[in-house]
Amino acid sequence: MISQRAQKIKPSPTLMINDKAKEMTAKGFDVISFAVGEPDFDTPDNIKNAAKKAIDAGFTKYTAVAGIVELKDAVRDKFKKDNNIDYKRSEVVISCGAKHSLYNAAQALLSPGDEVLIPTPYWVSYPDQTLLNDAVPVLVDTLEEDRFLLKPEAIEEKLTNKTKVLILNYPSNPTGSTYDKKSLERLAEVALKGGFYIVSDEVYEKLTYDGLTHISIASIDEEIKKKTVVVNGPSKTYAMTGWRIGYAAGDAKIIDAITNIQSQSTSNPTSISQKACLEALTGPQDFLSQMLVEFDKRRNYIVSALNTIDGIKCLLPEGAFYAFPKISSYFGKKWDHWTINNSFDLAMYLLEDAHIALVPGSDFGKEGFIRISYATSLEKLKEGFSRLKASLAKLV
Ligand SMILES: *Cc1c(COP(=O)(O)O)cnc(C)c1O
Repeated sequence: MISQRAQKIKPSPTLMINDKAKEMTAKGFDVISFAVGEPDFDTPDNIKNAAKKAIDAGFTKYTAVAGIVELKDAVRDKFKKDNNIDYKRSEVVISCGAKHSLYNAAQALLSPGDEVLIPTPYWVSYPDQTLLNDAVPVLVDTLEEDRFLLKPEAIEEKLTNKTKVLILNYPSNPTGSTYDKKSLERLAEVALKGGFYIVSDEVYEKLTYDGLTHISIASIDEEIKKKTVVVNGPSKTYAMTGWRIGYAAGDAKIIDAITNIQSQSTSNPTSISQKACLEALTGPQDFLSQMLVEFDKRRNYIVSALNTIDGIKCLLPEGAFYAFPKISSYFGKKWDHWTINNSFDLAMYLLEDAHIALVPGSDFGKEGFIRISYATSLEKLKEGFSRLKASLAKLV
């Protein structure tokens, strides 16, 4: 009854952890979640007020499929100001979240059998969105010693005449690593030589630390700009995950195809949310710097705390709000009826024993690691960390 396409994708194992965490919370356990993928801050008032104003003004009807002109222009200004890229209106489309932008890009670019290069660890939706479009995910492993950054040589090994797209995500969810200009130039070179497209997921561009500036691969030169679809959105930057706005920029032909796909599926993204996003992009930006100061404190705390534990090694993430420590030294260890064989087992053990929820590395295609989100208060981080430490110490 269910299509072959739908059967190809499965719910993420994260759901099992989340379901179990919910079950335990319902039973009255005080579960601390390190599994969240969104800022724990409220959407700023100026953005909420712009939405209220839109409702009161009756801005509640269909808009242009690809988004209102003011928002497209604000997105173009953003690209110019932040990334030094010039896009025309015909090169920008607004969608219902960056995830939707990524899905649309996959729909516009992929034919059955096309291969999509996905560096691991990856954000969970890339392989499944590829499968949903009858294309083939080709995983390209990265190493912790390279800060989980993709080496051009690793791409060359996987390159075939079916390679259509490389998905990049920087700063990365789950590792927080990001590329400097030189690495992006080398990746761009390989892409142009290999003739494939790049889908560049830059949703964490503004969440970087230590004064690091984000560089978009599309800004390297005109040639790579034409072969790149940049995806971004306000969800993470302005704590707007529930508003469902994202955008994509790239070659007008691709954007046109995305617009057609959107016109036959979702139509325009929510009119009210578009006005809210317009305010996010053009209004005061002080919320962002305040949120960053807070994330930075938590990042420094959790990473140095993790590194005090024998058997854990954690890189200092350069962006986003996740730490991705190596935990494989616990594999083979036991406690009572538990044997820890992989990151999923460790996540289940920590949920059961320490009442902390975190996401196993295997969910991101990288065994031996776990993801800890620090989009939660410093107080909870500290409490969660001491529980983590106590539970790990029990493993023998
Ligand atoms: C959260 C996230 C997205 C999706 O964001 P939305 O705009 O809320 O759809 C896309 N890519 C990565 C890497 C993310 O972490």
